[in-house]
Amino acid sequence: MAFASPPLSAALRRPPSVLSSAACRRRAAAAADAPANAFWSAIARKFHWETPWPADAPAVAWNFDPTAGPVYAHWWKGGRTNICYNALDVHVAAGRGADVALLFEPNEPADGRARSLTYAELLEEVTAAAAALTAAGVRRGDGVVTYMPMGVELPVVMLAAARIGAVHSVVFGGFSAAALAARLAASGAEVLVTTDGVGRGGKWVGLKAAADEAIALAAADYGHTVVTQLVVRNRSAADGRGGGAEEGAAVPMVAGRDVWWDDALAAAPRAGGEVVWVDAEDPLFCLFTSGSTGAPKGVVHTVGGYMVGAATTFKYSFNYMPGDVYFCTADAGWITGHTYVTYGPLLNGATQVVFEGVPTYPDAGRLWEIVAKYRVNILYTAPTALRSLKRAGDAFVAAHDTSSLKVLGTVGEPINPEAWDWYYSVVGASAATVVDSYWQTETGAHVLAPIPVAGLDLKPGCAQLPHLGIVPVLLDDAGGLVEGEGEGYLAISRPWPSALRTLLGDHERMEATYFARFPGFYLTGDGARRDADGHLWLTGRIDDVLNVSGHRLGTAEVEAAIVGVPGVAEAAVVGVPHPVTGEALYAYVVLMPGVEGNDALRAAITAGLRARIGPIARVETLHWVGGRGLPKTRSGKILRRLLRLIAMGGGGGDLGDTSTLADPSVLDELLQTS
Ligand code: ATP
Ligand code: MG
Repeated sequence: MAFASPPLSAALRRPPSVLSSAACRRRAAAAADAPANAFWSAIARKFHWETPWPADAPAVAWNFDPTAGPVYAHWWKGGRTNICYNALDVHVAAGRGADVALLFEPNEPADGRARSLTYAELLEEVTAAAAALTAAGVRRGDGVVTYMPMGVELPVVMLAAARIGAVHSVVFGGFSAAALAARLAASGAEVLVTTDGVGRGGKWVGLKAAADEAIALAAADYGHTVVTQLVVRNRSAADGRGGGAEEGAAVPMVAGRDVWWDDALAAAPRAGGEVVWVDAEDPLFCLFTSGSTGAPKGVVHTVGGYMVGAATTFKYSFNYMPGDVYFCTADAGWITGHTYVTYGPLLNGATQVVFEGVPTYPDAGRLWEIVAKYRVNILYTAPTALRSLKRAGDAFVAAHDTSSLKVLGTVGEPINPEAWDWYYSVVGASAATVVDSYWQTETGAHVLAPIPVAGLDLKPGCAQLPHLGIVPVLLDDAGGLVEGEGEGYLAISRPWPSALRTLLGDHERMEATYFARFPGFYLTGDGARRDADGHLWLTGRIDDVLNVSGHRLGTAEVEAAIVGVPGVAEAAVVGVPHPVTGEALYAYVVLMPGVEGNDALRAAITAGLRARIGPIARVETLHWVGGRGLPKTRSGKILRRLLRLIAMGGGGGDLGDTSTLADPSVLDELLQTS
């Protein structure tokens, strides 16, 4: 299908000299913005605004050029709303209170903790939770940090914070005490909500103990005091089911600081749970990025624009229709769980499965069992999960009825065509649409996705189309626009509602990271290629680009070619300095079970790369990776920065910041086998 990307208005190209005065530039930008602003405002009006934004003000005021002044984008400033009200109260008021909002699926398939909550019940829980936060002293603009497992309570606390105008900062429950301490201090939050513990796979993880340690570290290292810690009692502990050795162990409570969640809810005056109307530009949350490329960034989103972006993208990317059952496997510790568990589905009044466990426990059929149990129509997961489930074999899928699926979403990394094919043909039985959604913590919502419309030919491994209102551009090294077919830095040339507003406590870092290199554009940090149809393919991170004999190669394409070789389960490629070619390719290869890394496979990989990319893509060093696999962030992304250091000899023992690494023992194994 032919697709032309939306034409860039002249004003959005390099500003010509006649427009050099700030006033002229502003006028030209406003004229170019008008249709997009009208579009977004028409959508925004579908939400409840307690006070509409000023009629004479433009939808958005913005500047993406740090040389012209501070970078900012404000949407519907002056309007007052509440995202929790729009996600819950609106549906109940419209008579949809009996619709199911959440279907909770516990870690242990049959431990009796599965439950469902209607919109009316969820509103009740969130209101009580909001009252408990108010009673703990939380007010509009204050931070609330959570350190909890995935489950019903995490979205409940997020929505409760939003309800009273507080700013939530969710820390993934798999992070260490030190990582939590740093995030606590950065947020300035005096209230921490945690959980006694959780069964994850076959293990019991005691979260309260780590939270206690983090509170002590925050005080010692940052001089930050947590005044109140609210502790959710996870019923797996109370019921004595579903845990490991420490299950049910007594959780020590610090008098004056620690309060059981249930007690806090019971004691809180109900009036404290009432909606607090906030400005569209009030902060809604701060969330740290995955830390794939360096130190995580504390991304700040605001209420109004994020609400509109989350709701709209959920609806259109997944072709959501009332009655659909939706299931996203992401933890709300990541942006995917924020936008596409807590907010997007609820803003649409959808019914969704919330899963506490992991895709491979008790076995690799767990997700397909859940799909069959709830007749899931829309599934949203990550390439890393798909690759590991594919590796486990098709029989796990075949054992369950997955015929209810109509949309199969993926996010987090480029999806290699083999994993895409498997998702499409084995999981979806060639009857569902695969939606490869490209976006970032910073973008708040989908930026590119093959929106499932009739007539769009899907391309395995391609995110394809700009999402509504997004104007993606490709830039060359000099900041010039790459038009038509070609490759470049993926950037966005005008604001969109759910864009980040700042980095926590460091607006300069935000300008330096995303806007300084190409003033006037938001730089994603990823590379992309536009094909003859105008479709966009992500080629990998700019920092990871490979340069062999002057040819730039994206990691995504080289890795996809290697994973296309039978017997290979996963691959990661980095460049190492080479005296002749500038850089040489060093490939880490994970094999399918029972497959041996030998010369025949090496030859097959060489041939595969030659056929799919060309002779330039020659791997200098092949590193067969052992059973622990590749180093990944806790959100499942490959940490190529560490792989590069190992390929270059181990960095003299100093691998820099490894705090975002999920399993540190992976590094020892890689160093031993290198
Ligand atoms: P950090 O910014 O701290 O290095 P991160 O970029 O991994 O971490 P996230 O915001 O969780 O943090 O991830 C966004 C990134 O994930 C994107 O910039 C892109 O590199 C990658 N990504 C997400 N979805 C896709 C996709 N569908 N195709 C290709 N890449 C994707
Ligand atoms: Mg990033």
